Amino acid sequence: MLVIMQAGASQKVIDQVIKRIEQLGLRVHLSKGEFRTIIGAIGEENATFPDQLRSIEGVENVVPIMRPYKLASSDFHPEGSQVQVGKVKIGRGGYALIGGPCAVEERESCLEITRAVKQSGANMLRGGAFKPRTSPYSFQGLGEEGLKILRECGDQFDLPVVTEITDPRNVELISRYADMLQVGARNMQNFVLLSEIGKINKPVLLKRGPSSTVKDWLMSAEYILSEGNNQVVLCERGSQSFETEMRFTLDVGAIVLAKSDSHLPVIVDPSHAAGRRDLVSSLAMAGLAAGADGMIVEVHNCPEKALCDGPQALTEQMFDELMRQVKQFVHNDF
Ligand code: PEP
Ligand code: MN
Repeated sequence: MLVIMQAGASQKVIDQVIKRIEQLGLRVHLSKGEFRTIIGAIGEENATFPDQLRSIEGVENVVPIMRPYKLASSDFHPEGSQVQVGKVKIGRGGYALIGGPCAVEERESCLEITRAVKQSGANMLRGGAFKPRTSPYSFQGLGEEGLKILRECGDQFDLPVVTEITDPRNVELISRYADMLQVGARNMQNFVLLSEIGKINKPVLLKRGPSSTVKDWLMSAEYILSEGNNQVVLCERGSQSFETEMRFTLDVGAIVLAKSDSHLPVIVDPSHAAGRRDLVSSLAMAGLAAGADGMIVEVHNCPEKALCDGPQALTEQMFDELMRQVKQFVHNDF
């Protein structure tokens, strides 16, 4: 890290800082400018060091040079990593093409939607059984009954399934039914949940929080990775912006940045970003063009009757058209 001294800091103060850096077990590299001294502190850093050094009088700022996330960093796996969910490989030439309803509502419609997305070429099925809703009075999902239906649909059409987990107490239950656990945007910084998921051997889809930076997102991935679970896929689903006509704003740059700074695969969720179906397909293509390793798209056989997120659900026919475009653009190596 770099310790930047205040302009005109006295030699006595500089010596004190040097002494403290050495006490922390770091080597010092001094750079004295005409007005300002910058002290490089070299060695194994601890997360508490920057704030400790910042607290010393005469220190203007401390700038960490290393990324705060280590296991998620592209330095750790410069070649990029691949996560496997059932037969589906995500990353390094493998694409997750996920379709399905926002929520599992009942068996017949879920089977119908699964049939349709499979026929269009999806290789995974999505469907929420535990829904994080803004209002406690909105449909909260079918719980275990929904998991059973989702599993049946996945098995019948040979598609691995991804579903959201909102509560660390449900890790064991959901893991029994799902092939991949989704951490939703609202739970991106639910650190207890992240740590619990880190302890199991299941792929995780980690969505970016609507107001989180890419760095925060990667720090959340670090929570899962540091517990031993290295099967993490990131998902960009739009951030909060001043826009009022879209639900969120798809941050295509975040896909590029996350792919560059991290080795983890990244997929795009155009549905929650747009909030309206007419924009979804273009945003999906934009995400793939930016380098996403796949997409997760909400589809419904009858959006006007959907219990959750109907306005952004693609009809089965729209999903089919999107998949035709996608197949011309991405060539799944697996
Ligand atoms: C969802 O996938 O249905 C969902 C709730 O997504 P997000 O967490 O991105 O809002
Ligand atoms: Mn949804």
